[in-house]
Amino acid sequence: MKRETGIKNLSDSTKTWDIIVIGGGASGLGAAVDAAARGYSTLLLEKYDFAKGTSSRSTKLIHGGVRYLAQGDIALVMEALKERGLLLQNAPHLVKNLKFIIPTYRWWARPFYTVGLKVYDMMSGKLGLGPSVLLSKEETLKALPNIQEDQLEGGVIYHDGQFDDSRLAINLAQTLVENGGTAINYCEIIGLLKDDQGNISGVKCTDLETDIVYEAKSKVVINATGVFTDEILAMDEPGKNKTVTPSQGIHIVLDRSFLQSDDAIMIPRTSDGRVLFAVPWHGKVIVGTTDHLVENAEIEPRAEEEEIEFILETAAQYLVKTPTRKDVLSIFAGLRPLAAATEGEATKEISRSHKVLVSESGLISIIGGKWTTYRLMGEDVINKATLLAGLEERDCVTKNMPLHGYIKNVDRKNHMYVYGADIPKIKHLVEKEPALGKRIHPDLPYIRAEVVWAVREEMARTLDDVLSRRLRATFLDARASIQMAPEVADIMAGELRKKYSWSKEQIKSFTKNTEGYILK
Ligand SMILES: Cc1cc2nc3c(=O)[nH]c(=O)nc-3n(C[C@H](O)[C@H](O)[C@H](O)COP(=O)(O)OP(=O)(O)OC[C@H]3O[C@@H](n4cnc5c(N)ncnc54)[C@H](O)[C@@H]3O)c2cc1C
Repeated sequence: MKRETGIKNLSDSTKTWDIIVIGGGASGLGAAVDAAARGYSTLLLEKYDFAKGTSSRSTKLIHGGVRYLAQGDIALVMEALKERGLLLQNAPHLVKNLKFIIPTYRWWARPFYTVGLKVYDMMSGKLGLGPSVLLSKEETLKALPNIQEDQLEGGVIYHDGQFDDSRLAINLAQTLVENGGTAINYCEIIGLLKDDQGNISGVKCTDLETDIVYEAKSKVVINATGVFTDEILAMDEPGKNKTVTPSQGIHIVLDRSFLQSDDAIMIPRTSDGRVLFAVPWHGKVIVGTTDHLVENAEIEPRAEEEEIEFILETAAQYLVKTPTRKDVLSIFAGLRPLAAATEGEATKEISRSHKVLVSESGLISIIGGKWTTYRLMGEDVINKATLLAGLEERDCVTKNMPLHGYIKNVDRKNHMYVYGADIPKIKHLVEKEPALGKRIHPDLPYIRAEVVWAVREEMARTLDDVLSRRLRATFLDARASIQMAPEVADIMAGELRKKYSWSKEQIKSFTKNTEGYILK
């Protein structure tokens, strides 16, 4: 997956692509992989880095959505449970089966949740991850030593999936390229091309590394820009009603001692009527999330004071070792691209299922959904796109298609397990140059060879690409990631043949941005 090859393909002005996808998050990558795997010539263009937007800021769950079951959205839960099973089958190096425990503090809660979770188990069918089980108070305390004991009645275990969101995005981009597609990061769509009848016939984009503007022709264009959907729609038809409502959710990341368990905690009903998760992830604990409407879509949204207080206060009600602001290793916010709410509808009530919209000009937009269902969203939007563009009909092939990095037996003791089938190649780098085996920071497991790998094989272009989305340092421990920056910039500059001034600038801008992940 080389950016230079992508730019070369893009600059071929004689070419008409079958499908161009705008946006390199879960939705865009899902659509592009589906299209390329069916044999259509496919180009995906991303303004920043793959998964720089919402798709690196999730709760890291591949789930049916117990909450949606409680809301009675059976169809959404059924489709998500099926996709959960398929993803575990196609990317076992990134998705794992995780136990969730609901601690219960009222006499009726255990039977109540057990019945609901048995339905959840039944709906998973053959793709189920394990049966839900009732726990006594003692068993709950043994599984979750840091849970509040006062009035604890017992607990219920259920199973769902957990994953690494931006690593899955990178693997999808690699899968796209391996299927003959082209993926380019740092390439911004600045306009849409139209034919004489006003139908979309391609895109105009800027390579943000060189400022060169390209025009790429295609039979159909898919807008998969998440919370930025309306910006692209405005290029097509200025002044249209909003189709997307951004809803912010934040997470805090804590040291493992705040959970002291390999199992996750699920609090089914917080004071604002949502669910709260505390989930072990890459040796730390992620706690979240919130859900509230925001006015503007931003690429680096920031947590609001109220959200921070809500998460800390709710966590304190359930954990014996209560987290304070200074315990927060990283704080990150993401924006859900929800289909715009109708008047009077709260965001937690807006359906999380996806929508495919077709504009008069033939521009197709895919909105809503969630990471768990990215494959199905891809299938749906490509079915629609091929029909609209009159492309030869071909069946979707992604259901049983292993993704880049697929391996059968995953050894999760080594932090490099996320690379799956690429592990031997990274180890080979270290064999050739033992200095690449050196750890970069005492508090995080990453070694220098991973930086080299990210630049050579995973299209990392900036310090933020490496530290936030190839490695997950920014999300796991923001201060440590800033301390890693000079060494990582030095390795990257060598690989990309950049001057000292590039490293200096990268460190400066990365540090400034990452300050926003530190809670003071
Ligand atoms: C707090 C939170 C927690 C969540 N947790 C979960 C979870 O646990 N499990 C789950 O299944 N789902 C979860 N989700 C939902 C899931 O993360 C999103 O549905 C999904 O990531 C959305 O992906 P997307 O591709 O639509 O948007 P994005 O990831 O935002 O991608 C859109 C891309 O378009 C690019 N773009 C914008 N404008 C342009 C342009 N002009 N030119 C080129 N590119 C452009 C952006 O840079 C961006 O990368 C969560 C969401 C949030 C906010």
